[in-house]
Amino acid sequence: MDLLSPPVARILPAFLDQPADALRTWFADRGQPAMRLKQVRRWLLDGRAESFEGMSDLPKDLRAELIGSFAPLGTRIDRHLQASDDTHKLLVRLADGKSVECVLIQEPPRRTACISTQVGCGMGCVFCASGLNGVVRNLTAGEILEQLVRLRNLTPPDGRLSHVVVMGMGEPLANLDSLLEALEVAGHKDGLGIGARHITISTVGLPVKIRRLADLGKQYHLAVSLHAPNDLLRTRIVPTNDKTGINEILAAADYFHEKTGRQVTYEYVLLGGLNDSPREARELATLLRGRKAHVNLIPFNDVEGLPYARPTVEAQTAFIDTLRRAGLSVKVRKRKGSEIDAACGQLRRKVEQELAPA
Ligand code: SAH
Repeated sequence: MDLLSPPVARILPAFLDQPADALRTWFADRGQPAMRLKQVRRWLLDGRAESFEGMSDLPKDLRAELIGSFAPLGTRIDRHLQASDDTHKLLVRLADGKSVECVLIQEPPRRTACISTQVGCGMGCVFCASGLNGVVRNLTAGEILEQLVRLRNLTPPDGRLSHVVVMGMGEPLANLDSLLEALEVAGHKDGLGIGARHITISTVGLPVKIRRLADLGKQYHLAVSLHAPNDLLRTRIVPTNDKTGINEILAAADYFHEKTGRQVTYEYVLLGGLNDSPREARELATLLRGRKAHVNLIPFNDVEGLPYARPTVEAQTAFIDTLRRAGLSVKVRKRKGSEIDAACGQLRRKVEQELAPA
């Protein structure tokens, strides 16, 4: 071996990231029938294979060619944390060295994957760990899909993912094309078989994209991160509100409901002393009254270094009561996996801080 030029690890393209047409051509060029593509996909998406080696119904020389040409999965697991309630969190390392988080929440038979769509986030919500350093890049469809595959591979052999929430790092509607491509495979019977009605897309509220999603005629569930009942307060908490404003977001969400028949969820992070007073509760009730809306209250999850607090029990109870008395359907998000930093963006941040030079 030439010691002056040590071998450089070659990064192979990820199989799941290749357009179907390119793969069909790749197999055809090797004189392989079209069903081979289906077989490999079935191994990865249904058979839990993480290497080509074990794909026992493929000819040996084809397996060798696959090994030389593609990575079966283009990501690797950098950290794997498991909480006592069987919540798993993965820090997934992408081919270019960047990382994203995803989480598996298990309440059998319900098993929910929470996935990321971007490295970082450009929305800058003041209480959120994901956006503290801005957005780095969009994930590819394959990188989004692989999070689902990795999380599914953590479920028991007879388990499957029943639900997906797109509530990890990033703004899903800022990377809508790749997300839809990944969800298409997730929903397919030859893919992961997770129906659109069991998939929730959570957005900061980008009206044009909400309308585009509505026009697709799919049954995805839409969750809008509202966090405040008036523009003055919302712009303080969610800076992008400056350009959109609550009315335009609600109009787009109403359009989504009209087009899809699906009830929209409004998420509201309760930040102690900032947006959790009876006045804000009343204002929120007035804003949402008459809409077929569901409210999901999320008590703030502490983020190191940020000056926000969880609401007091009294404030939270009073807030819920006010909304319920106004006839709204309200739920408080359960806290899962808190000892493994399951809230979005926190693990990546911690690992990056550990790795950063002092
Ligand atoms: N960009 C999308 C997805 C973000 S994550 C969106 O804005 O909806 C999903 C939800 O978690 C959002 O409502 C987000 O505001 C909320 N969230 C982020 N950080 C949080 C924290 N530290 N505590 C509680 N909720 C948080």
